[in-house]
Amino acid sequence: MPSLTNPSEIARETLRLLVVRRLPPSPENYRDLYHEIAGTGGFAEAFPERELKALQNSLPRETPVQQRLVRRFEQALKGTSWAELRVGVGDLVKQLGKESELPWHDLFGEFLRQWENKQAGLTVARKRDAFERVLAAASGNSELLFGRLQGLLKSWSANSPAGEEDLLVESADDALPEPALLGVNDLAAAASTNRGSELSGELRDLFAYTLEVVIATQLADEPELAADTRMLAHKVRNAASRSSLQGLLASIKRLSFRLEILSEDRSELRAGLLDLLQLLIENVGELVVEDRWLTGQIDIVRDIVGGPLNIRAIGDAAMRLKEVVFKQSQLKYSLNEARLSLKQMLAGFVDHLAEFAESTSDYHDKIEICAARISEAEDLTQLEDVLAEVIRETRIIQLNAQRSRDDLRATRQRVGEAEARINELQVELDRASTLVRHDQLTGALNRRGLEEAFDKEVARAQRRQSPLCVAMLDIDNFKKLNDSLGHDAGDAALIHLATVIRETMRPQDTVARFGGEEFIVVLPDTPVGDAQKAITRLQRELTRRIFLHENNRQLITFSAGVSEFQAGDTQVSVTKRADEAMYAAKQAGKNRVMVA
Ligand code: GH3
Ligand code: MG
Ligand code: MG
Repeated sequence: MPSLTNPSEIARETLRLLVVRRLPPSPENYRDLYHEIAGTGGFAEAFPERELKALQNSLPRETPVQQRLVRRFEQALKGTSWAELRVGVGDLVKQLGKESELPWHDLFGEFLRQWENKQAGLTVARKRDAFERVLAAASGNSELLFGRLQGLLKSWSANSPAGEEDLLVESADDALPEPALLGVNDLAAAASTNRGSELSGELRDLFAYTLEVVIATQLADEPELAADTRMLAHKVRNAASRSSLQGLLASIKRLSFRLEILSEDRSELRAGLLDLLQLLIENVGELVVEDRWLTGQIDIVRDIVGGPLNIRAIGDAAMRLKEVVFKQSQLKYSLNEARLSLKQMLAGFVDHLAEFAESTSDYHDKIEICAARISEAEDLTQLEDVLAEVIRETRIIQLNAQRSRDDLRATRQRVGEAEARINELQVELDRASTLVRHDQLTGALNRRGLEEAFDKEVARAQRRQSPLCVAMLDIDNFKKLNDSLGHDAGDAALIHLATVIRETMRPQDTVARFGGEEFIVVLPDTPVGDAQKAITRLQRELTRRIFLHENNRQLITFSAGVSEFQAGDTQVSVTKRADEAMYAAKQAGKNRVMVA
């Protein structure tokens, strides 16, 4: 019977067949007959194809395994039958279990073997480099990581210097079918397709570019090696075919060997320079005059140079050493000056004493002679002579005394002048000490130092497009602590807090004393949520490392506000937001961290 299409004809035929087949006229019988006649299959209404399609579309398809599972679901759905769907979904779940149990155990075994094995043309540094690239390319996706790692190990075990190249092709090509499960050979084949050769063109340019970066950043003081590298970059860029690239392999290997030797030389040089620097710092430490601040600075520099080095740490050490040199020279100068004027005054005083003693003893001798002559005098004329002599001698001694008095007066004036000069020097020293970048009590940066460090961090963050945060900390109820334990205890508490901040925050974080009991921490490379976590961690650390005053435990807490540097911000505006958030933390009950 040709299948009917008109619904009313189908309905009529359905009723006729119900009678012919002697079936009871129930809705189920009617529906089954209706579909039989219309040829639409008894299931079409009952099977919710549209909803299941929508479900299929909402399934995740981020990884190759997920994509495969979605395809399988789709196939099961195509049958539009519950029975097929049941089997399909069952398979799917089984598959899911299998897929998520990747044989990591075996892979790690192989990894260790290949890591320890020697392969032609593969140094540990290159292996580490390739491994890090695989890690980065998988960006946390474990199946992808598994597949790529498998590929990498295969290329190592094949001793193939082309292995890494293929791996790069693989990670650049996201449209290749399931690259995670492709082996090195499959990939090589894929690379030779059109898309592959386009990619190797890109790869070749990238490699040439990498060589040029090496020249610019590493070889400024190695003209010969730089010239060879430049030449090789040129050849790589102009290599038209795969075989001409292959021809360059030996030169590339030679170059990487030379670069490796260079980097070994450099790290040896660096170690030597560091030793030398340590020696110099120790020597300076021995020479430093008795000044707590100076010796403190030297200790900090020694720690910085002894710890893991980065550009910030070196910058900090240089800044502190410059201050030490500056302050030392100031102190030496004023000390020499003061010593010199003291010496001059003493010498003058001794001269005067000697002169005076000499003239007075002379006078005494003369007067004694006169006295003898007076007692022996027999007439007035004799006495007159003696008297005249006494008067002459007395006048001489008077003149002498006057001269001494004038001299002493002049000396006193000179002392006054020297005093004024020392005061002047003191003022000069005070003015110069505004050049100092560190707070003398806590050793943290002062405002001036903070300003400079902040400018550097902002420039760095903008260059790297990375987030930068500022935290403002203010000790809670500090006035009470000062009032109950004294100002010295307050000072010690400030030193304690600065120490805990420095030891808890990362080396790249900048710590500064902003005001009396307020500190600023600058956190580079940190989004605001992480900055809040870091400062909360600091709070916990401060409660753990309790402050001791005369063997009594004193709990110090602080309130803090955190703000993130935004485009168009200045140091003042971002600090102001942190300060407002800190104020909100105080209002909310203190001992907490708030985000602006
Ligand atoms: P809050 O919890 O609201 O911050 O109260 P607070 O008492 O900490 O704040 P307030 O600003 O009222 O007091 C700060 C005190 O810090 C006042 C001052 O005596 C003390 N202070 C500031 N600089 C120093 C310092 O260098 N050494 C010492 N020992 N105390 C200082
Ligand atoms: Mg305050
Ligand atoms: Mg306070």
